[in-house]
Formats: sequence, C-alpha cells, structure tokens
Amino acid sequence: MRLDKSKEIFDKTKRYIPGGVNSPIRAFKNLSIIPPIISKGKGCHIFDVDGNEYIDFVLSWGAMILGHCDPDVVNRIKEVVEEQIAFGAPTEIEYEMAKLVCETAQIDMVRFVNSGTEATMTAVRLAKGYTGKKKIVKFAGCYHGHHDIFLKEAGSAVAELRLKGIDEDIVQNTIVVEYNNLDSVEKAFKENKDEIAAVIIEPVAGNMGTVASKKEFLQTLREICNFYGSVLIFDEVITGFRLSLKGARALYNVEPDLITLGKIIGGGLPCGAVGGKKEIMQCLAPQGNVFQAGTMSGNPIVMSVGYATIKKLKENPHFYSNLEMLAGKFEKELTQVFSNSNLTFCINRVGSMLTIFFGVEKVENFEMAKMSDLDLFRSFAEYMIKNHIYVPSSQFEAMFLSVAHSENDVEKFVEIAEEFCSSKR
Ligand code: PLP
Repeated sequence: MRLDKSKEIFDKTKRYIPGGVNSPIRAFKNLSIIPPIISKGKGCHIFDVDGNEYIDFVLSWGAMILGHCDPDVVNRIKEVVEEQIAFGAPTEIEYEMAKLVCETAQIDMVRFVNSGTEATMTAVRLAKGYTGKKKIVKFAGCYHGHHDIFLKEAGSAVAELRLKGIDEDIVQNTIVVEYNNLDSVEKAFKENKDEIAAVIIEPVAGNMGTVASKKEFLQTLREICNFYGSVLIFDEVITGFRLSLKGARALYNVEPDLITLGKIIGGGLPCGAVGGKKEIMQCLAPQGNVFQAGTMSGNPIVMSVGYATIKKLKENPHFYSNLEMLAGKFEKELTQVFSNSNLTFCINRVGSMLTIFFGVEKVENFEMAKMSDLDLFRSFAEYMIKNHIYVPSSQFEAMFLSVAHSENDVEKFVEIAEEFCSSKR
C-alpha cells in the first residue's frame, strides 16, 4: 500500500499541529505505519488521499452508526445551512431534539453540550452540586474525556502515556476502583463514607477494549449508590444509541440517575449531552445554581443532524437486530479463524462493539486487558490497515459495525485476519 501523499501531508501538518493530529490516537504512534490522510467516506468505506480504500471498523470511534455520509444526514445539513449556522440564541430545533432524545432514551431532561468530555464534566459537577459532596469514584480503564478528574488510570489513548500537567489537588478527589469488582467499590465507600458525590462508569466499557459489566455488578452498584446517597452516572457516550435506543441501560435493566451521551447523538458533528432525573437536572443554571454554558451548545446544524440520525434509528428498530446478527456472525467467524491457528485469544463483544485480545482467555477489567499480548495486537492492527481494513491502532479501543456494513464486509475482514494468522505460522 502506497501512502506517499499521506506522508507528505502528515509531515507538513506536524509543523503546525503537535504530532500532526488533533487527537492523539489518530497519530498511530504505536504502529510503524503513518496514518492515512482520509479524504472521503461513503457507507462503511473510507478513502485516503493516495486513493486507497478501506472498510472502516472505527467509524469515527463509534459515531457513524449510519455509515459515512448517510443521504438523510447529508440532506439535512444542506437544508439547514442555507438559513441557520449559529445564533447563540434559542432555536426550535433544540426543543425538537430534546423531546426526541428524552422520549427515545427515556430520560426526564437533557442539556446539550459540544463533546463527551463536556457531558461528563457537567454530570459530575451536577452530582457534586446536588449532593454537596466532593469525591467521585471511577473505574480503572474507563475513559470519560480529557478533564483532569477523569484521567487517573484511564483507558483509551491515555493508557499508553505517562501523563504530565494534571492538577494533583483536583485529582485527589477521584477514587479509582476495579471494574467488575464489588469489593473494591465497597471498600472505597467504607473509607469515604459521606464524601462520594458520584460513581461514573461505562456500563459497557469501550476504552479498555470492549469489556462488559456483569449484571449483578451494575445492580449492586445501584444499591450502593442508593444506600450512601451518591449519584450513579452511566457514561453512555459510546453505548448510547449504539447498543439500543436506550443504550446499555436496556441490556441491564439498571437505571442510573444521570447519563452522558456523545458520538452518535451528533450524527458525526461535535455534540454531547447530559440527561436524567428531573430533580437533579433542574439544578443546572439558569434553573439552579450548578453552572454550565457553551457558545456553540445546541448549535442548529448539530441539533438538526443529531435529530435526523436519532429519528432514523428510531424509525428503523430492525437496525439493531440486523447489527446484532451481523456482529454475531463476525464474532463466530473470527473465533473460528483464531481457533484454527491455535492462538490464545479472547473476543469480547456486546452488540456491534467488539474487541480481539491476544494471549489471554478472558478479559473482565483493565488489568486483564493490559496483560494481553499488546505486541501481537499491534502487528495485527498494522496488517489489517495495510490490507485495507481500518481498525483501531490501539488495544484499548473497540471496533464498531454500522448499518452500512454487509456480510461481505465482515467476510473480507475475516479473510484478511486469516491471512494474518498464516503469516504468523
Ligand atoms: N466518554 C466515553 C465513554 C468516551 O468513549 C469518550 C470519548 O471517546 C468520552 C467520554 C469523551 O468524548 P469526547 O471525545 O467527545 O470529548
């Protein structure tokens, strides 16, 4: 695969943007290939400036569930942009989008922001304002955005970095516990009895690779939060509208107090949201005294595209059953390929999120994910990308399917994975 033009652009960009990217994971720092510079996307395919075509299993880190440049989304942007770009004043589409999101995700109220990071920051501030407490509990390997309070033992791109610039005084109030381990949660609560404002968790983690919570674990987490008077926040930035219209909550039948949303909710444009129980949500300014604001929050183009996306998902509930079927086939065929090669591996899949871990048989938390064969994963990722299958460059990310993927796309992935296994024999 030739990446001459990509290399030229990437090198030029590095002069002006640190590392040549606007988000670290995009730089392929742990791979020995440079990132292709992407020029176009259609359905589940993306194209680079050198004319290479890839089947995309990253999908803007899960955002593009309808595939790239879905016609309904594109048309909506074209319609809106003729009359509305930004006002910093209320628009009717904000009401329409809020109603649609609240009814679809089954929450009382919502506030729109510009990113997942803003959503989780706002959720935690709300929890602190509501409870009058100052500490939070988070789980090792979960990623909730790039604010200081969340970066302690975080997954995603943070996992492979030694961080600087973090305000230790603020981070002192973040208690990190182990995913799927109730003992560590109970210990944190016993040691910090009346001080914990919130527990924040990815109900299905995507940022240590895909790792599902155990049902009993989430149920007990709910009970612990009730007992100690702490706010339970489900960070559904990845899982919201991906695992179902009601996100991961529908799979577990556990109701948090607040949820955070991002990625799919903006249909590919910058958007996040915090939502949940009215009693807590109305603490937000101007109704209450918990401050949050944003010049671009609720931007009419973003709201319109988010609306078109959620509406399409809502009107096509078969999308989710189709994704489940396709992802099931994907998991089954990959399992076959790796088993035939006598590799030790484990595939974690929940709905259309999937991660392959090599060298381990089970991954239930961040420690286990970090024990997997990271070198083998790197060479796998590199092999796949070189062979036109675009996968996450890091072990601590999930792969995604969109409604635009077909059986052929999944079979192509499996075929290349089989070639990779043969190359290792
Ligand atoms: N929460 C989760 C679960 C995420 O996966 C991410 C980003 O990947 C975030 C929060 C932060 O979202 P953003 O990158 O939009 O700030």
